Amino acid sequence: MTSSARPHLNRRLAEFGTTIFAEMSALAASTGAINLGQGFPDTDGPEQIREAAVRALRDGRGNQYPPGPGVPELRAAIAAHQLRRYGLSYDPDTEVLVTAGATEAIAAALLALLEPGDEVVALEPYYDSYAASIAMAGGRRVPVTLRPHAGAFRLDLDELRAAVTDRTRLLLINTPHNPTGTVLTREELAAVAELAVERDLLVVTDEVYEHLVFDDAEHTPLASFPGMRERTVTIGSAGKTYSFTGWKVGWVTGAPGLVAAVRSVKQYLTYVASGPFQYAVAEALALPDSYFTAFREDMRAKRDLLAAGLTDAGFEVFRTAGTYFITTDIRPLGETDGFAFCRSLPERAGVVAIPNAVFYDHREAGAPFVRFAFCKRTSVLEEAVGRLKALAG
Ligand SMILES: *Cc1c(COP(=O)(O)O)cnc(C)c1O
Repeated sequence: MTSSARPHLNRRLAEFGTTIFAEMSALAASTGAINLGQGFPDTDGPEQIREAAVRALRDGRGNQYPPGPGVPELRAAIAAHQLRRYGLSYDPDTEVLVTAGATEAIAAALLALLEPGDEVVALEPYYDSYAASIAMAGGRRVPVTLRPHAGAFRLDLDELRAAVTDRTRLLLINTPHNPTGTVLTREELAAVAELAVERDLLVVTDEVYEHLVFDDAEHTPLASFPGMRERTVTIGSAGKTYSFTGWKVGWVTGAPGLVAAVRSVKQYLTYVASGPFQYAVAEALALPDSYFTAFREDMRAKRDLLAAGLTDAGFEVFRTAGTYFITTDIRPLGETDGFAFCRSLPERAGVVAIPNAVFYDHREAGAPFVRFAFCKRTSVLEEAVGRLKALAG
């Protein structure tokens, strides 16, 4: 007999039983709906990079435990990428760490940098693993809510300032931002950086969508602002940039003390991961600018297709400046509860979406918002847009 009086999942994590993605993907499978819930591409990344992984596997590179910090080729490629794109110089040996995707990087950073009771100020809505990782580290999350303003979700810098207390240890930033598609401007980032310096805070910044910015939006790494290099852990990933989300190759760049702290935790989470894929990602990071331009253009066209379809179907559509996602407001459709709406959408229109409320502590603030992913084949998006017309009728 097990001890059934006490729940198996501990109290720290009780609220994180199952993710909404599991529920919604199951709903998509059982109803045959088009799954625009979870953010993964339905086509694989460049053939050349897949072949590089095959070659590494065949040549016996990475089939045994790779070095704990990551293979030297990949660490050098990450450092070269940060230098070439942003003018940020990192030593591949002491300032770069390869992780099992950005997810492990986030968890390891928070487990390494937080004492129990430390407060973490994070932008709300937030990527779902943030809350769980803060909880695992015994930290307290303090959300600062992005709010709709002139057709997009924006950060209120006064609110951010007011959220910082003497107990705040770090700011957890995500730009380009999932799920809202907001890209923080240079001015906003400068203000975040000033605050971090003034209050002597650490910053963990999730920049996995760094290459997915559209129109005239521009991604600027927080680490590039004055006083930030020594206090910032920057997180990147190959999953979103190269459309290989199953490979789970992510990385951390930062000052030696910060990277050493994250490495201390990482070595006991997975130790190492994705051996042969690390060699392939090293090649991917060195792809010419034409790859990134073509990828961005393709995603921009998909965004435009889905945004137009959602507008026609009657949603209010917020402007997506970056990421894979469009956030909508369902109130123009006469709806107010995103959960109920998403549970009924497969039946009503044969499409699956995600209620943004799951990304909020202030659930009511997120209630009318629903997220759709556009990282799908054009034919799939066209079919989804056609089905969503049922809502307008
Ligand atoms: C997808 C995603 C991640 C996870 O990246 P992996 O490399 O697959 O672990 C982290 N942060 C954000 C904002 C994401 O959308």
